[in-house]
Amino acid sequence: MSVSAPERGGSSTYWAEHAWLSAEAGTRHGVLIEIEAGRFTAVRDGVTAPPAGAARLAGLTLPGLANAHSHAFHRALRGRTHAGKGTFWTWRERMYDLAARLTPEAYHALARATFAEMAHAGVTCVGEFHYLHHGPGGTRYADANEMGHRLITAAAEAGIRITLLDTLYLTADVDGAPLSGAQLRFSDGDLTGWWSRVQELRTPPHARTGAAAHSVRAVPAGLLAEFASCTGNLSVHIHLSEQRRENEACLAVHGRTPTQLLVENGLAGPSVTAVHATHLTDDDRTALGDTGTRVCLCPTTERDLADGIGPARALADAGSSLCLGSDSHAVIDLFEEARAVELDERLRDEHRGHFDVAELLTAATVAGHASLGWDDAGTIAAGARADLVTVRLDTVRTAGCDLDQAPAAAVFAASAADVHHVVVDGREIVRDGVHLLVDDVGRALDESIRAAWA
Ligand SMILES: [Zn+2]
Repeated sequence: MSVSAPERGGSSTYWAEHAWLSAEAGTRHGVLIEIEAGRFTAVRDGVTAPPAGAARLAGLTLPGLANAHSHAFHRALRGRTHAGKGTFWTWRERMYDLAARLTPEAYHALARATFAEMAHAGVTCVGEFHYLHHGPGGTRYADANEMGHRLITAAAEAGIRITLLDTLYLTADVDGAPLSGAQLRFSDGDLTGWWSRVQELRTPPHARTGAAAHSVRAVPAGLLAEFASCTGNLSVHIHLSEQRRENEACLAVHGRTPTQLLVENGLAGPSVTAVHATHLTDDDRTALGDTGTRVCLCPTTERDLADGIGPARALADAGSSLCLGSDSHAVIDLFEEARAVELDERLRDEHRGHFDVAELLTAATVAGHASLGWDDAGTIAAGARADLVTVRLDTVRTAGCDLDQAPAAAVFAASAADVHHVVVDGREIVRDGVHLLVDDVGRALDESIRAAWA
């Protein structure tokens, strides 16, 4: 299929009532923001009223939010899989049931609607951890990247950027057990087959190719070093120690933790993001931090699936840059993910104040973009990509906040529903709470999800 790209924005000027520009620049008031060809060209604060021709942004304006860990099709599990008993492993059976059904057309419609929901939530860039590559039984489509190209086009249609983290998935467990059922759709047979397909991905300007090793369950230990060397120039993500069972199996088979396996095979460093990193030893945390390996936390999924609480503060202290993802999309709300990082720590140790607001917003913005290879996004500063996310401060959730603490109000009180204006690469995607590219996103979700399950 052809791969669509969004239009680029022209020149525009905004005046933000309040804006959190970055951790370094902090919060400013009366901020005049000029944009040319998708980049900020000037950012000046202390301007008391919007000049002629400037669009007024009422409330708090933030840099673009990055959703660093997504499986778009999991959105169809929301509202269908939360009640009842079980674990991650029983939830996974429902996910496989869904994965077995999806056609390229159905996945395209579902991803477009899901990415549009993300745009409504202020997400300007998604890291799509993509493993549903092939047809039923593993049959190749005429375009071996049919599904990946559908995802790239769906992001364009929703107006957001995407890093397609194309995922290597070869085995069913740490012991090398063969794939079966829906898992056959995930596999390219071997590392060479996967890598040659990845190199055929076409990425228009709103997209980047990244890579993922699904987990130490799905990629044999003997291939990790070769995987690391062929993906050395890409952003690389991997699910790590989300479940204790993965650790136990890895220790039993390899005599080392999943983190040890990664580090020993060169799968560590600032281009690598470990997703979840929930159940780590002290040595694991030190190894991730010492190598500058990033960590993507997905607290709303981790709590929905009863995974556990990751050592967020200890990882940050060890040297890992933290970012956020909505993963299974039980919720798509980066404010909820951000505050959960802090609030989960409070529940664990019965004290408040583990992360300051700037750290949480950094995780949601510039750190997430960096994890996905977009080093020029996630701050409001001249030269950066022109992403703006404006949060209303007059809704039933946010009204009455101390304006000097508006960023804290966004993190701890706002929801995705309070995002009413979104600009991506200089182009307005959401205006006054209305998505400008996708008509009625709720309906698009409803129709695409019912079609996916039909
Ligand atoms: Zn995941």
